[in-house]
Formats: sequence, structure tokens, C-alpha cells
Amino acid sequence: MMKQLCFLLLVFALLLYSSTAPAEKIQTVRTMEKQDTFNPYYSRTDTTKLNLSDAEWKKVLSPEVYATARQKKTELSFTGKFWDYTGQGTYYCAACGNALFRSDAKFASTCGWPSFFEEVRKGSVTYLPDRSYGMVRTEALCGRCGSHLGHLFDDGPPPTGKRFCMNSVVLDFVPDIQGTRKMQ
Ligand SMILES: [Zn+2]
Repeated sequence: MMKQLCFLLLVFALLLYSSTAPAEKIQTVRTMEKQDTFNPYYSRTDTTKLNLSDAEWKKVLSPEVYATARQKKTELSFTGKFWDYTGQGTYYCAACGNALFRSDAKFASTCGWPSFFEEVRKGSVTYLPDRSYGMVRTEALCGRCGSHLGHLFDDGPPPTGKRFCMNSVVLDFVPDIQGTRKMQ
């Protein structure tokens, strides 16, 4: 008799639980995630190349990141969050999480955009000739997702002589854990 009572109580509890967790409640949470531009392609460990349409990117990136990453908008100099930032850590692609630069390779440039003299590893950045605006430049793109990051110039400091001139808005910065040199 006691066992039966316990079983009935359990069934009752389950019924009560399911009725207090209505489907619409779960849906609200999911919708909110989407409004916060939840990006399922973002990963700091997965290096699988991404080949997504702009329409798909538009769904998962904030309008600011989308404008630069997919529409090649250049942010105004001296306005980005990283142009004079000197924290120790790693910079990742804000669209897909691919590791791009170490803070050790960042240098104080007078151009007003975050500038680096080398990428974190071969292939983390890819390049395309860019002849827009009557100039011949080299466009720098994320090696994983192909997002526009900025441009590459040959007037950087030693040892590479390169200047990766980036847009802060397409960079994510992750500080090193104290006392360790964390990468990727
Ligand atoms: Zn990327």
C-alpha cells in the first residue's frame, strides 16, 4: 500500500512538473538567445573551415560585426576598442573564434587601428588583392571563415616588416590566465 502511494505521488509530481514548464516558456528562452545573436559557428578550438552565405552570417552576427566582417566596412580610426590596447592575451576572429594574433605581436601604430606584425600561426589569416578605392592593397581575411579583418601593409616593424592593420570590431580579445601563456 505504501509503495503504491509513493508511486502515485511520483506520477503526480511529474504531472505537476510538466505543467509548470510549458513549451512557450522554453521557446521564450530560445528566442532571447537569438536576439543576443547566438552564434553556433563560433569556436576557439574548432579549426574546420566555414563557408557560409552572407544571409546565414547576418542571422548570427551583430550588425556591427556583420558590416565589417561581411561587407568590408572599415571602422573610423582611433574609435575601435583595441587600437591602443596593450593587454596580454590572444585576439580571435569575432565572427568564428579563430585565433588570429598574440598581443606580443601587437605594436603601437599611429594609424589608429590595432596593428600587428605577424599572425599567430601560418594560415590563421589569408590574403586577397584588393583594388578598391583606386588603391592596390592586400586584404586580410580570417583563415577559417573568410571574414574581412582589415589590410596588410609592408611598412611594419622588424622582424617581419609587415603591418596587419585590423578593425577592432572583428576582434575578440581573451586575456592570458595569470602567469601562463595561453594560446588557442
Ligand atoms: Zn573567422
